Amino acid sequence: MKKILNIIAVAVLLCVAVSCGRQEKAKYVFYFIGDGMSSTIVAAAEAYLAQERGVIGMDPLSFTVFPVMGEATSFSASNIITDSSAAGTALSTGEKTNNGMLCIAPDSTTLQTSIAYKIHDAGFSVGVSSTTTINHATPASFFGHNIKRGNYYEIGKEIPATGFEYFAGGGLYHPNGKDSTQTPNLFDMIADGGYTICNGYEDFKTKKDAERIMLIQSERSEEICPYALGRPEGALTLSQIVEAGISVLERNRKGFFLMTEGGLIDWTAHSNDLAGTIIETLDFSDAIAVAKAFYDRHPKETLIVVTADHETGGLGLGRRGYTFDLTVIDSVKKSDTTTDVEEYMNDRKSMDSLNRAARVGWTTGSHSGGPVPVWAIGVGSEKFAGRQDNTDIPKKICEAMGVAF
Ligand SMILES: [Zn+2]
Repeated sequence: MKKILNIIAVAVLLCVAVSCGRQEKAKYVFYFIGDGMSSTIVAAAEAYLAQERGVIGMDPLSFTVFPVMGEATSFSASNIITDSSAAGTALSTGEKTNNGMLCIAPDSTTLQTSIAYKIHDAGFSVGVSSTTTINHATPASFFGHNIKRGNYYEIGKEIPATGFEYFAGGGLYHPNGKDSTQTPNLFDMIADGGYTICNGYEDFKTKKDAERIMLIQSERSEEICPYALGRPEGALTLSQIVEAGISVLERNRKGFFLMTEGGLIDWTAHSNDLAGTIIETLDFSDAIAVAKAFYDRHPKETLIVVTADHETGGLGLGRRGYTFDLTVIDSVKKSDTTTDVEEYMNDRKSMDSLNRAARVGWTTGSHSGGPVPVWAIGVGSEKFAGRQDNTDIPKKICEAMGVAF
């Protein structure tokens, strides 16, 4: 009897040892990239939230309370200041390239492989999404290869062969090439390649059971999604893009990988548009909240990683003295008419006077070269703590998923 008990005890210990040694893998992975979203832009959005409830402080966004935080250097192979295609390449392939190039090494010939392909080959469903167009730099760096990021037609032509289950964004740039004469048309080619194209969220709801989906804002749209500030009622939002993505991708019992870019933070910051940048960042936070709600339902199987590809605008909170003040944003945000918002967003002088009134400064209309923040929650999130390079992030995602890099 004692011998039997000993055998049972040893067996139990072995089981415990084996299960302790086995790392849990992430089955569902969300990779959020706030284009141009510097730490200071995030801080401005947090200060705005606190000011909205009448206090001085910084109210956290959906992702800034994630338990793991780190920082990533963002330089490209050609400059300390990266552009979106070189940064997207680093964040998708784990390799650096020159500014302007997309998933092709600086030698101009060697192709680099996005983790989206590796993860897809391993049996997971894959989605690539953004508020910009689907063939714009950041989303394109997850599926495309080109010596020039601006060759939108050639980049878009790579979509059908990916076999990825979900693409979403405002639309597609240059569906018939730069000179509008090239055939086949990208929308036709993608539809012929087995994708069901959904024109807006309502249309998506009626077609959501299709095997492969491309969700865009309206029929054959060649535009980015509307800015969150002054967005017309019923327009496609990033939160809807994430919702739709989850419903398409979670059908695969193996799991999924969804990359989502908050692309217009960069566009508003390029214009040094403070109100637009803050509202766009809050909108990005709302989209991440959709993923967080999914995480709350599957906490032991989900990983969410949030970062930026670079800083845009070189925003500084403070211009003269201790007089930083975001109440002025309400003059735009709470405006009764969309025309007022449009007027503000199209007028350099209004944006500059808002910057002066809020006492903020921007150093550039381009990007700046500082490191970017990284936040993570869920299975494997501890890997993203501390200092890292942007090329480390895709490697760590594969590691967390148990996919060979
Ligand atoms: Zn960018």
